[in-house]
Amino acid sequence: MRINALSSKSYPNGSFANAKAKSDGAPGANPLYATVKISDSVQISTIKKALEELKQVKYLPNDMIYMNAIGVNPPFKDGYEAYRWLLDNNIEILYADFSNKNVHACLNYDPQAGTAIFINSNYKDDCTHADVLAISEAIFHECGHGKDFDSENSIQEELDCLSLNVLAHRFYEKKYPDVFKNHDSFLFSQGVSLYPKLFYDFHLTGLKDRVADKYGYLQSGGEKHCASKIALSIKQKYKNTTAV
Ligand SMILES: [Zn+2]
Repeated sequence: MRINALSSKSYPNGSFANAKAKSDGAPGANPLYATVKISDSVQISTIKKALEELKQVKYLPNDMIYMNAIGVNPPFKDGYEAYRWLLDNNIEILYADFSNKNVHACLNYDPQAGTAIFINSNYKDDCTHADVLAISEAIFHECGHGKDFDSENSIQEELDCLSLNVLAHRFYEKKYPDVFKNHDSFLFSQGVSLYPKLFYDFHLTGLKDRVADKYGYLQSGGEKHCASKIALSIKQKYKNTTAV
């Protein structure tokens, strides 16, 4: 894992054109362009703190059972496994300017330069405890995408990776009561605080609507993320809303 240096050798001009990046954005976010920023000491410290939090994440009792019951398969069994994955694969974590400001984070899968996780530079100066936790959730999500070592994405893969955010968020809420209270910026309201509500929503209607809206254009499933009933129904929902 490399979090403290921008390697100009790996990233000429610090610029990426990610036609196949898993951009976590709305339709139109692809291709996502990202320009890496050199992190200062505060930003490096924020990411280090986020990783310290991530490695302690354990899922609450029954949460994994619940995820499996709704057709979602979290790619890691806990935060420590993702932390190890980052270390073992020398994954770089950097802030970057994104062409789509609504994207929280993305994975840059590059077999030559190495896989990197980019966090929206809009969040580069956010360093409260809640921010650190939110960034750790974003990193966890991107680890889920990165674990496959491919550039393929699907509705099912998004659901599987979103579940990581949710599982970590619920753990943090329990570990640090009220830590997310009064945090309603975009990162929270449209990200880390939103999905736990949607995943635990009755009938999952809100989750299906949201995922259809953001990721419905993707294939329902892939080789490593077999489409479950929920992914198929989201794809159908997307088709229904886009049919003329
Ligand atoms: Zn994603």
